[in-house]
Amino acid sequence: MFDALTDRLSSVFDRLGGKGVLSEKDVDEALREVRVALLEADVALPVVREFIAKAKERATGEAVIRSVRPADQVVKITYDGLVEMLGGEGEAVGLNLSLNPPTVILMAGLQGSGKTTTAAKLGLRLAKERKKVLLASLDTRRPAAMEQLATLATQAGVDSLPIVAGQSAPDIAKRAISAAKLQGYDVVILDTAGRTTLDEAMMSEAAEIARIGNPSETLLVADSLTGQDAVRTAKAFHERLPLTGLVLTRADGDGRGGAALSMRAVTGLPIKFLGVSEKIDGLDVFDAARVAGRILG
Ligand code: GDP
Repeated sequence: MFDALTDRLSSVFDRLGGKGVLSEKDVDEALREVRVALLEADVALPVVREFIAKAKERATGEAVIRSVRPADQVVKITYDGLVEMLGGEGEAVGLNLSLNPPTVILMAGLQGSGKTTTAAKLGLRLAKERKKVLLASLDTRRPAAMEQLATLATQAGVDSLPIVAGQSAPDIAKRAISAAKLQGYDVVILDTAGRTTLDEAMMSEAAEIARIGNPSETLLVADSLTGQDAVRTAKAFHERLPLTGLVLTRADGDGRGGAALSMRAVTGLPIKFLGVSEKIDGLDVFDAARVAGRILG
């Protein structure tokens, strides 16, 4: 997803490296090119502005120019800026599990974002950590979505809540949580109904389920390939739901990845996982340093 950005940045740094001795003007010029590269990759403008302001601050004075390898210093400044943009190295990643099980995890997002697949991927990940996991679909309008979750749960080797026709989403949430309590589940993952566009009914239903379920994690699943739309979706959901983190799917796709890079800075929410394939084990814990490293090639 970041290939184009990687190519652009490495050509900026190669040119800089070829110069040996750098003037302040060279550094300024390189940062200007980094700015253009980020904008072309679709990183949101305010995020780029902040990135460049901080990079300039770090590069000011003679420190960079006088250093043994000035070009490397510019690369380091860019790397540090990317890590910071992505939430920093110290940001708590992975899931917050309740000390008092069952932990409730609520999945939210637009239809087609990869929400149901991600719910099952999380189920598999937790099962590998020896947690007893129950998946429940609350998508009462799309029986196929309920079937899909049940099928994926079987693939992941975890249980799914038996489907009862005619129940409302809040009632299914209650039934899932009481089943989880009675049957000693460690984690119950509630997959809320998605719509193709942001709509009031979807938001208020998800908000009601959040009130009922009191989740330890409310994760927004967003499709990285939808660019700035994914950023707008995340902002809109965050206004209505107490989100605790983001999952960016289709990080394996070949769109411009800059919007995904903006998500953390724009929403203030940590990116917790990256969806990296259609397969049930295609979910990576998000690591800002690793992603920044990969972008710099
Ligand atoms: P939902 O409507 O949000 O529940 O979306 P689904 O979970 O049904 O996913 C929609 C499609 O995206 C399915 O074909 C998934 O296999 C696919 N998908 C989900 N996550 C990823 C991912 O990280 N990478 C790729 N390549 N495909 C994904």
